[in-house]
Amino acid sequence: MKALIVGGARSGKYMALLLNREGYEVILTDNNEVTYKKELEVKNITVIDGGHPDYLLETHYDVIVKNPGIKYSTPFIKAVLAQGYTIYNEIDVALRFASDVDVLAISGTNGKTTTVSLLYAMVKEQFSNVYLGGNIGIAVSELVYKYPNMQTLILELSSFQLDGIYDLKPKIATLLNLQMDHLDYYEDLDAYYNSKQRIYQNQDKNDYYILNQSDQEIVHRFNNDQVQTINLHGIDSVLTENGRDIMFNGELLFSKDDLNIVGQHNVENTMVAALMARLYGVDPLNIQKAIKNFNGVEHRIEFVLEKNNIKFYNDSKATNVESLKVALEAFDQPVILLAGGYDKQISFEDLRAYNSNVKQAYVFGQTKDKLAEVFDHSIVVDTLDDALSFALKDAQADDIILFSPACASFDQFKDYEDRGRYFKQLVKSI
Ligand code: ADP
Repeated sequence: MKALIVGGARSGKYMALLLNREGYEVILTDNNEVTYKKELEVKNITVIDGGHPDYLLETHYDVIVKNPGIKYSTPFIKAVLAQGYTIYNEIDVALRFASDVDVLAISGTNGKTTTVSLLYAMVKEQFSNVYLGGNIGIAVSELVYKYPNMQTLILELSSFQLDGIYDLKPKIATLLNLQMDHLDYYEDLDAYYNSKQRIYQNQDKNDYYILNQSDQEIVHRFNNDQVQTINLHGIDSVLTENGRDIMFNGELLFSKDDLNIVGQHNVENTMVAALMARLYGVDPLNIQKAIKNFNGVEHRIEFVLEKNNIKFYNDSKATNVESLKVALEAFDQPVILLAGGYDKQISFEDLRAYNSNVKQAYVFGQTKDKLAEVFDHSIVVDTLDDALSFALKDAQADDIILFSPACASFDQFKDYEDRGRYFKQLVKSI
C-alpha cells in the first residue's frame, strides 16, 4: 500500500507517521523545506521537499492526502486530479484507524472554536479519553497516532477540510451558521456553502444532526433524510426557554446566568454545545459546571480584567466588520472602542448603524481615517498603545473598554494572536 502526502505542516507529519505505522509506504512532499525530515526518514518515510516533482505521479497510490491550505487550482494538485484520484483530508484518513471513536463535529462560518471548546469542557466533565482536534489547530492524525485509548473526539471542521472528507460519520453534528466568507478560495458562495453540507452526508438513523432553523441557507440546503434531526429553534425544538432557563425536554439544561461569556451569539453557541453534550449523555449538572468555568476562548471578546471599575475586553480575533458588529451587540451599554489595523480595502459603512453602541472610538493603524469617518465620536491616533492611553484618560467608572479592531493586524503585528497578547500585556501593566 502506497500513500502520497502533499503538504507537510503538523498534520502532514503525523499523517505520514500514522500511515507508516499502519504499514503504508509513505512519500511526503512539500513546496518548502521540511524541518523534521530526519525524524521521518529514520522510519523509512520518503520526504521530497522544495517542490512537487512530476515524477511523483508516475507511480500508483492507494491514498493521496492534501493539506487543506493547498488550493485545488495548484498545478500539481490539478495533475493529481487529472489522473482520476480522490484527494483526501488528513482527518478522514486518520479516522479510518480509529473506528471506535465517537466523533462530535461542528462547522459553520462563525463560532466554531467557541462552541467546540465549550462542548469539550462539558463532555470532559463526565467522560475520560476525550480529545479536541481539527481546525482548532490540533491535527486529528496526531491524536490518533498518540492516543490509542481515545474514545471521544470533539472535532472543529473548516470548509477547506470538509472538501476532502468522504467517510466521516459523526455521531452528532451541526452547522452553526452560513455566512459570506472565503470568496478568495471558492469559485462562488454556492461552492462554499455546499462544501459545508459534507459534514452530515454519511450520518444515519443512529446519529443526530442539530438543525439551526433560524438560518435559511442551512435549512434549504439540508439534504439527509436518514439522520435523526433535532431542531434547535422553533415550536418542535427540544429546547424551550423559561425566563433565563434553557430547558431540554422539560428539564433544566442551564441558565443564561451561568455564562461568563457575553452576547446573544454566545448564548446560541452555548445552547448548541449543551444540546450536543446532553444528546451524548452528559448530565445537566456537569454541563452547568463546565459553562460556569468557561471564560471564553482567547482573543474572542475575552474578559481581561477589571480595574477602577473599568472592564477590559480583548477581541483581537475580530478581523472584519461582521465580528465588530457582533461584539458591539454583545454589550448592554455603549462601549469605548479601540479599533483599526491593516487595510484590506473593505468598507466600514455598515458600522454607521452602530454609532449608538459606541460611546467613544479611538482609531489607529492604516484604517484610522476610514474608521473615523463612520464613527460620530472618534479620535484618531497612530498605534494601539496610544489608543489605550488616550482611552484611559477619558474613561470613567463602569465603562467598558473593548479592543475589537475590525481589521487584520499585519500593519503593526505578526498576527491577531500576537496583537491580542500585546493588548493584554498593555492592560495588565496599567
Ligand atoms: P470560528 O472558529 O468559527 O472563527 P470563533 O468561536 O473563533 O469562531 O468566533 C469568532 C468570532 O465570530 C467571534 O469573535 C464573534 O465575533 C463571531 N461569532 C461567534 N459565534 C457566533 C455566532 N454563533 N454567530 C455569529 N457570529 C459569531
